[in-house]
Amino acid sequence: MKSWHVAAALLALLLITRAAYAEATADRLYVVACGERTAPDVSPWTPGVNVGQPIDFVDTCYVIKHGKDWMVWDTGLPDAIYSRPSTDPSAWRRTSTLEGELAKIGIKPAEVKYLAVSHTHPDHIGNVELFPQAMLLVQQAEYDWPNQDGSPRFKESHPVTKLQGDHDVFGDGSVMILSTPGHTPGHQSLLVRLSETGAVLLSGDAVHLKSNWDARRVPSINVDKAKSSASMQRMAEVMAQNDAQLWINHDKPQSQTMKHAPDYYQ
Ligand SMILES: [Zn+2]
Repeated sequence: MKSWHVAAALLALLLITRAAYAEATADRLYVVACGERTAPDVSPWTPGVNVGQPIDFVDTCYVIKHGKDWMVWDTGLPDAIYSRPSTDPSAWRRTSTLEGELAKIGIKPAEVKYLAVSHTHPDHIGNVELFPQAMLLVQQAEYDWPNQDGSPRFKESHPVTKLQGDHDVFGDGSVMILSTPGHTPGHQSLLVRLSETGAVLLSGDAVHLKSNWDARRVPSINVDKAKSSASMQRMAEVMAQNDAQLWINHDKPQSQTMKHAPDYYQ
């Protein structure tokens, strides 16, 4: 065989391998309502803009089916809030429990193999211990970031993989954790590839509102403004490369346009 034949064969093989990798998809993505609240003033999230205006936030969890495996991305407000609601009108509420939502989907918490959270604010880690067996996928920088009282964010007994950046959850490129620090030290976002819907980027709190994304606005509550801006720039590049939609965790108008569990995206 001539050398250019070998080169052509190798190139064809490379292209086939790359295509297979790019086409790997998760089977289902469920959007799960995990809380809601009305904050009296949006401006901590929108510095200098709409000062004193109230804002309705939702809080969203996501469930992913990949082959026989289940993954949960963000765990929302603690399920206990459902049965013991606060009397404070601006506090987070739950209209159902995460465990109840999983039951609607048809799974038990014990069946969840991977658990990942965008970051460790209370509205994202409220039900981590509903899944004591699940492998927690979290950035080392987030895991090592103590609470204000110095206590750790997670139970030491919880199985954990401490990440140093991006991570291919199932090893086929279908579900990718992307490092997007700034809101917190080890914040991460999730790129999910689906066969019909296409690629979806789950924001975590790298973005709170569509208007903030459009203006690349950084909330004053973020721990690092420069890293927050760099992470949004990176997300925009990833979205362009993958023709991906941006699904914003806390954005109520967007959430109202979406299918929720037990319905799902494929
Ligand atoms: Zn947050």
